[in-house]
Amino acid sequence: MNSRRDFLRTSAFHLGFLAASGAVSSRLLAQSAAAKPSLGVALVGLGGYATRQLLPALRQTKHCHLAGIVSGTPEKAAQWQKDEGVKAANVYDYKTYDRIADNPEIDIVYVVLPNSMHAEYTIRALKAGKHVICEKPMGLSVAECDRMIAAAKEAGKTLTLGYRLHYDPFHQEAKRLGQEQVLGKVKLFEGGFGFRAGDPTQWRLRKALAGGGAIMDVGVYVIQAARYCTGEEPVSVTAQEIKTDGVKFAEVDETVLWQMKFPSGALASCSTSYNCSTDFLQVACENGRYRVGPSYGYQGQKGEMNGKPMEFAPVNQQAAHMDGIARHILTGEPLLNVGGDEGRRDMLVIEAIYRAIASGREEAVAR
Ligand code: NDP
Repeated sequence: MNSRRDFLRTSAFHLGFLAASGAVSSRLLAQSAAAKPSLGVALVGLGGYATRQLLPALRQTKHCHLAGIVSGTPEKAAQWQKDEGVKAANVYDYKTYDRIADNPEIDIVYVVLPNSMHAEYTIRALKAGKHVICEKPMGLSVAECDRMIAAAKEAGKTLTLGYRLHYDPFHQEAKRLGQEQVLGKVKLFEGGFGFRAGDPTQWRLRKALAGGGAIMDVGVYVIQAARYCTGEEPVSVTAQEIKTDGVKFAEVDETVLWQMKFPSGALASCSTSYNCSTDFLQVACENGRYRVGPSYGYQGQKGEMNGKPMEFAPVNQQAAHMDGIARHILTGEPLLNVGGDEGRRDMLVIEAIYRAIASGREEAVAR
């Protein structure tokens, strides 16, 4: 259930379309002019992704805008206030965060914090009556995901994840080819995403803040891709973790190889690493194969189907993603697969992968 303010915005949004088509008078449209068809976003945690990707993307969105910031670093907050014109009243730190409840200019809270903070800051934002976009991984466990989903239900607000690739045309095509069985049934998915984690002091290598290593971070993209290319949920996994640097990766996984079985008989062979760069998906079907690689970055995707290149105009994934979520909130347009339930499904797989690493056996994926 959306708030009255969302309803007014929704009405204004629809009126805009209707006016453009000549279906409503300009007088009626003028009456609704006070309600703008754009949602205010507050970014929580002004780190690398918020600064380098989300802020530039917000300048390109049509249906949302930067309205507020939450930061534990006063110098950064001051700089953003100056550079981006954020009002002093819309600047928060982690102690004053809950006061966002009283701010009608903030509609969506976008949580871009270290992984261990996702559940807490998502739940607090939902309790403050705001819609939430939470970065991946959704939480550190299925239990956390359940609490986040329950909080969204209780608040009657939309809980979504930073799954930007659902708005990328190469991934939309990979999903269509697999799910519509354009080349026949999917038989084997292969995919990998990894990078070299440089700074040994970064939070990504601390279990308390990251929850886990490569699998929690970029491995999620490969789990996602295997799920949306097959259109199925894996029933079981086997997995192996390999450490070459037991000091740097003392607390978290370095490289993980894992295999998944799907109900149709399709198989997946996947990898993720904090120690080498890999970035692809390839799907072997009954009558051919397709591939996207580079695959999971912000731009520069390349794809081919049976040797024929996929050609799509580049998009700003983050802008398309935030606009898609805003349109869902404003007009009820169906959400792509970026809701809280999707994050929970990925976490079920991650938990099974960690169980399989520990046991050395095939482990069922819980439901
Ligand atoms: P950064 O380390 O660059 O930024 C995290 C920010 O969180 C910090 O700058 C800081 O902001 C705030 N913070 C609050 N408490 C802590 C703490 N104890 N330690 C460190 N930072 C803290 O991380 P990223 O921006 O790379 O990642 C943030 C989240 O976004 C992660 O969950 C990650 O998985 C996700 N991500 C998603 C991407 C995608 O493509 N969807 C890409 C990159 C990251 P401040 O100083 O303002 O308080």
